[in-house]
Amino acid sequence: MVTLSKLYTMNPGQPKPEYFLDNSIEFLKGVGSARGEVLKKELEIFTFGDLLQHYPFRYVDRTKIYTIREVNDQMPYIQLKGKISSVTAVGIKKATRLIAQFRDETGMIELVWFRGIKWMRESLKAGVEYIVFGKPTLFQNKINIVHPEMEIVSEVSENINKSLQPFYNTTEISKVKGIDSRAILKLQRNLAERISFGEIKETLPEYLINELKMVSLKDALTAIHFPHDVNELRKAQFRLKFEELFYIQMKLLKLKLLRTERSRGKIFSKVGDHFNYFFYNRLPFQLTNAQKKVLKEIRIDMGSGKQMNRLLQGDVGSGKTLVALMSMLLSIDNGYQACIMAPTEILAKQHFETIKKFSGDMKINVELLTGSTKNKDRKRILENLQSSSIDILIGTHAVIEDDVQFNNLGLVVIDEQHRFGVEQRARLWTKDDFYPHVLVMTATPIPRTLAMTLYGDLDVSVIDELPPGRKHIKTVHYFESKRLLLFGFIKDQIKLERQVYIVYPLIEESEKMDYNNLMEGFESITREFPLPQFKVSIVHGRMKTKDKEYEMKNFVEGKTNVMVATTVIEVGVDVPNASVMVIESAERFGLSQLHQLRGRVGRGAEQSFCILMTGHKLSQEARLRLETMVRTNDGFEIAETDLKLRGPGEMSGTQQSGIVGLKIADLAKDSQILVLARKSAIRLLENDPHLVLSQHANVFSKISSMEKNKTNWSRVS
Ligand code: ADP
Ligand code: MG
Repeated sequence: MVTLSKLYTMNPGQPKPEYFLDNSIEFLKGVGSARGEVLKKELEIFTFGDLLQHYPFRYVDRTKIYTIREVNDQMPYIQLKGKISSVTAVGIKKATRLIAQFRDETGMIELVWFRGIKWMRESLKAGVEYIVFGKPTLFQNKINIVHPEMEIVSEVSENINKSLQPFYNTTEISKVKGIDSRAILKLQRNLAERISFGEIKETLPEYLINELKMVSLKDALTAIHFPHDVNELRKAQFRLKFEELFYIQMKLLKLKLLRTERSRGKIFSKVGDHFNYFFYNRLPFQLTNAQKKVLKEIRIDMGSGKQMNRLLQGDVGSGKTLVALMSMLLSIDNGYQACIMAPTEILAKQHFETIKKFSGDMKINVELLTGSTKNKDRKRILENLQSSSIDILIGTHAVIEDDVQFNNLGLVVIDEQHRFGVEQRARLWTKDDFYPHVLVMTATPIPRTLAMTLYGDLDVSVIDELPPGRKHIKTVHYFESKRLLLFGFIKDQIKLERQVYIVYPLIEESEKMDYNNLMEGFESITREFPLPQFKVSIVHGRMKTKDKEYEMKNFVEGKTNVMVATTVIEVGVDVPNASVMVIESAERFGLSQLHQLRGRVGRGAEQSFCILMTGHKLSQEARLRLETMVRTNDGFEIAETDLKLRGPGEMSGTQQSGIVGLKIADLAKDSQILVLARKSAIRLLENDPHLVLSQHANVFSKISSMEKNKTNWSRVS
């Protein structure tokens, strides 16, 4: 018989990869073309190297054997030792289930098979001692183990029961096609047999390995799949997590280095008339200390001669818009134009109005450019941009179209940036030969670890203080049974001339149902709050932009009391008179989103309220989210909890799942390793920015090979 790997070496037409691990996966013993397809399609395992990096997600201690009496359904995978006393097939015509009674000296437990019944029935032997391995589950008030692994004690291979057994991620489809966790383990064994671990090159500098007492890459890669004990496993995990995070940091920090080296920034050397006039004559309140601190950081950056790339984080309502405006005035003072980009038309328009209002009698020319700007106006705006008679351009995506050419763009502010793709960010960068300064603002507090990874190439400023006089937003969680109470409360608030938001979820998969819920809600609200005393606005994604804006405007101007909406109002909208935020089906929102929504109220001087409405059935996680909201108003605390609950892949701001693309590190759990990795990377680049030292030769080649496989990276930086 010719194995595929033999075929491979016999075929001279096929160039043999230089590096063993670059071999295509179908050439591994036990794979072949059909299974190769499954591995590629389902698990993204294309090469030997990919398989080696398909790390286990869990390990089970196979040295421990439980007694049947100890077993409960909360246990993970466990081992039992005992004998089979009877085997019964259940089913009317054809057996659909096989049940074996399994006993040790403490009791009896049922083992159940739904597949492979005939084969199991023939192979199970009575009176022989087995090791049974599986997960206990509760079924019809009895604990059983479905599809256990069975091994005859006298035949048990030494190495299995003396070690931690790895479990690998697979998919439903891959399992049906025969590739389950066990199959992967088998392939890992086949790979380990063929691999010469000497061929695996070390990727970290030797001094770093010694300093942090790390194991070598080849030892780590062996131990991660075949650990002898927990200690060895921990060491392997540390090494691989460190390496993963270290190279992400290297990549980001190198990007930053490159940018500061290559691109000279426009130098904003002076604080001029516009800024000063604004500060002394137009600013209606004192800046908070946090705003002052951040403005100073921005001023220093923009005067440094290097291009600024700064992320401004600040909780909702912390006054980022003002910081943006004052930074733009600095740009104008130094003879440059500025631009602010918002994710939605409503927001762009609101920025436009806020900035108009704030600037009042100042001699600056501010224009708004969005998708719905009329052709005639658009033409005029484009001309005036080129002749530099526009100082500040405010807009949506429309501002990054190719024909929007600035004469002299000095500063770009990107509001709520996570709504802009990275690509779009990059397009702004290159609007000019000289890069403009860039300020990215986000109201989604990002946990430190995630920020370091996602925005590791940016400098970070934080506004960690709200303007004075803001009242803590009182948050409650009501079940549906309190709806009458809720309506009464809303009426009272409206009598006090406050305004109210009522928000419904609108999630794409069940869009139609959600739409119906929203409309039903709207109807019952208009019944409950009849004209002329109460006026209700509605805004949702299916409306025309024009109608949305009309409704929004009515609410902003106080012409309506209640705003019924989907999450389109989530970001940025500022109506200081609104004091109540009702969130319907609150269990369906993520924490960050709930927090964003709550931030729409509490912007004026009045006590504000957030009411989370839910049905009675709640998952444990939903309960935790609601409790967190009721407990705290602190955006960073909420973001940390969110990260723990959901994992970084689903954090808002990184919705493109897998954006971080981590194989082993976990940003929620491995923050210490991340800090260590970042520090090590910073130090390395300080000593050797261009990686020319011989001790960094392997770092250089690893980074070069990462650059070749750019697919993941284009999404990150
Ligand atoms: P966000 O950070 O969410 O974008 P905004 O810039 O919309 O916050 O500010 C929220 C509200 O607080 C606005 O009405 C703004 O005018 C007001 N504000 C901003 N800075 C201050 C301050 N230092 N003192 C009082 N009010 C402020
Ligand atoms: Mg804002």
